[in-house]
Amino acid sequence: MDNRTIAAVATPNAPGGIGIVRISGEEAIEIAAKIFKPVSGKNLTESKGYCAHFGNVYDDNEKIDEAVCLVFRAPRSYTGEDVAEISCHGGLYVTKRVLRAALNAGATPAEAGEFTKRAFLNGKIDLAAAESVMALIGASGKQAAAAALNTLDGNLSREIKGVAQSIISICASLAAWVDYPDEDIEDTSAGDMLPVFENAKKELSDIIRRYDCGQAVTDGVDAVIVGRPNVGKSTLMNMLTGFERSIVTDIAGTTRDVVEEKIVLGEIIMRVADTAGIRETENVVENIGVSLAKRRLERAELVLAVFDGSEPLTADDLDIINQSKNKKAIALLNKSDLPLSADRKIIADSFTHVVELSASTGEGRDDLEKAVAEICSTNEFDPNSACLTSERQRQCCVNALSSIEDAIAAINGGVTLDAVNVCADCAIDALLELTGEKATSAVVDEVFSRFCVGK
Ligand code: GDP
Repeated sequence: MDNRTIAAVATPNAPGGIGIVRISGEEAIEIAAKIFKPVSGKNLTESKGYCAHFGNVYDDNEKIDEAVCLVFRAPRSYTGEDVAEISCHGGLYVTKRVLRAALNAGATPAEAGEFTKRAFLNGKIDLAAAESVMALIGASGKQAAAAALNTLDGNLSREIKGVAQSIISICASLAAWVDYPDEDIEDTSAGDMLPVFENAKKELSDIIRRYDCGQAVTDGVDAVIVGRPNVGKSTLMNMLTGFERSIVTDIAGTTRDVVEEKIVLGEIIMRVADTAGIRETENVVENIGVSLAKRRLERAELVLAVFDGSEPLTADDLDIINQSKNKKAIALLNKSDLPLSADRKIIADSFTHVVELSASTGEGRDDLEKAVAEICSTNEFDPNSACLTSERQRQCCVNALSSIEDAIAAINGGVTLDAVNVCADCAIDALLELTGEKATSAVVDEVFSRFCVGK
């Protein structure tokens, strides 16, 4: 563990009421005391933990701000080290100036995620909880935030450790067999082990399934809006984002790039791309837009295929119906404020979900929200149960599950218990990698490299 005292601005780099400069490490309070003088005249170095002091911040004897300094004493702080947090006036200049003063007084600039990494290395939180800090910061909706907070509280780690512990306990009897293969303990051990592995398999499968269902809530889905020109794609995009972003005209072929927006529909985050109208065209520039739209459609997780309900379907509409086949797709019969002329049956026969809506009045938005939740299975997502918060965690679960399935197959196939022992060890390693108890430093570095500076 390095003994540098680190400092960084913990609040966003933008104008705001308050900006926080966080200092952590053995010399945190001494460094803070060099730049912060409490109006009470007390010396900060004598402050107890959990104390707030009002005073002034100085750099080179020049007063740079009025501020409040919070003192935390190790191990009772976020990082587990001595921590001073100077809450000064927010803004692009002042917080940076306070940080510079802290650096001039002996602190080192913190790397991305270094405060949380220190919390992990000091045993304040495990790796899964550290990742949930990032998920919590990035959460765009209530459910995503609840799921992240749940993991931060340790629900996931408790469940994973429970599974690991059950396998560790059967490893004890396996170890006995491996050490004394001549003893007659094989039959009883195999019989006892199977239900433990079966139970672990079920728990891990459930956790993985919940993560997959919750992906749309926590990470969002890549959605694409497609449709021939003038069906109302840009109007729909504007309705979903709540402001005029796409160009709405009744001249065919006006949206030529792919316009992308992050929107929250109910509890689901969607990265929605509004594409050029897909149609046969001779126009070279428009054709580039059409190819981009088709490629976007191919890789999208969710297709919102828009049709003009007030007009009969055209050959271009049928082409879009065809391209949406075998994809998660919702048909949007737009312009429901006008009389229906499109053949609804042809659309209903080709899509599992058809929503009638008016992009210009917003009517039908709730139905769209419901259809998206259904098709993304987010109804099954329960943020109160143990939730994985990263692809890394999912991969650890998948690896553990695969080793457990190998162990079950080995027991059922009558393979010697050495093989079962190896599988059980692999499963335990994968689970402990998830919680960080057995993660390599490369894995730890990789996790924290994705953090922001100041967290
Ligand atoms: P895009 O080419 O598919 O992006 O279509 P636009 O969003 O540019 O819309 C084409 C035309 O249809 C514009 O004149 C819109 O005002 C109109 N429009 C879009 N949605 C609706 C709707 O729900 N009802 C009605 N009546 N007109 C709409």
